[in-house]
Amino acid sequence: MRRPVKVGDVVVGDGALVVMAGPCSVESAEQIDESARIVKEAGADILRGGAFKPRTSPYSFQGLGEEGLRLLAEAGARHGLITVSEVMDIKTIPMATDYIDILQVGSRNMHNYSLLKALGKTDKPILLKRGHSATYHELLMAAEYITMGGNEEVILCERGIRTFENHTRNTLDIAAVPALHSMAPFPVIVDPSHGTGQRSLVPPLARAAVAAGADGLMIEVHPDPDKALSDAEQTLSPVDFQELMSGLLIAG
Ligand code: PEP
Ligand code: MN
Repeated sequence: MRRPVKVGDVVVGDGALVVMAGPCSVESAEQIDESARIVKEAGADILRGGAFKPRTSPYSFQGLGEEGLRLLAEAGARHGLITVSEVMDIKTIPMATDYIDILQVGSRNMHNYSLLKALGKTDKPILLKRGHSATYHELLMAAEYITMGGNEEVILCERGIRTFENHTRNTLDIAAVPALHSMAPFPVIVDPSHGTGQRSLVPPLARAAVAAGADGLMIEVHPDPDKALSDAEQTLSPVDFQELMSGLLIAG
C-alpha cells in the first residue's frame, strides 16, 4: 500500500508523475530564478537547488548557505513551485525549515542517524536519498529512523550505487523502484542525473524509471549547463529538459 506524501498542492505517490528539477547548486539570484522559470514552463512541480553542498573535494564550490536557501525560496514562490534542498547537519534544520518545503538527506548522509532522528521531529516532508553503498534494507531502516520520531512524510530516492562499472558515475538501480514499492509504503523517486553522471544518459534512464513505476524524478537542469559550478556534465540544458518533459507528458 502506497502512502502518498502531500506537499502544498503536489502529491507524491498518488499515481501521477512528480518532477523535481533545477540546478545542482543555487549560484545566484538570476541563475535560480531563470532555472525556476525554465522548469516550471516545461511542467515540473518542484524546484531543486543545493545551498549546502556535500562536495567530495573541500576545494570545490560549497554552496551559498543560508543565502542559497533564501534565493531558492524566493524563486519557488515567484514561479509557483514547491522547493527541495539538502540539509547536511542538525544545526541547519531550523533555518532550512524556515525557507524550504521538502528537506533532502543526501546519499552521503543516509547513515547519519542523529540527523535522521532530528528530521523525524520536524513537520516537513523528507526526501531520503539512498546511500551509494546501501542495501534496500538499510535504506528502509534509515527511513524508519525518521518515521520513529513521528514524521511519516518520507519519500525515497534511488540515485545510483557504486559498482565495478566506472564508465558511469554510479550504476542506477532501476530494480529499486518495484522492489522498494513491494517492501514499504513510501513513494519512490529516481535521480538519473547523479545516477549516471552524464547528460546524454539522463533522458533514457528517466524513461526507464517511469516504466518501472517511479512516483517521480529528480533532474538537474541549468540555464547554461556547461557553466554550472557543480555537476555540469550531468546537467540538462533547458532545451533537453523541455524535450524530455514533452516525451514524458505524452507517454503519461
Ligand atoms: C544532490 O541531489 O544535490 C546530491 C548531492 O545528490 P546525492 O546526495 O545523491 O549525491
Ligand atoms: Mn548534483
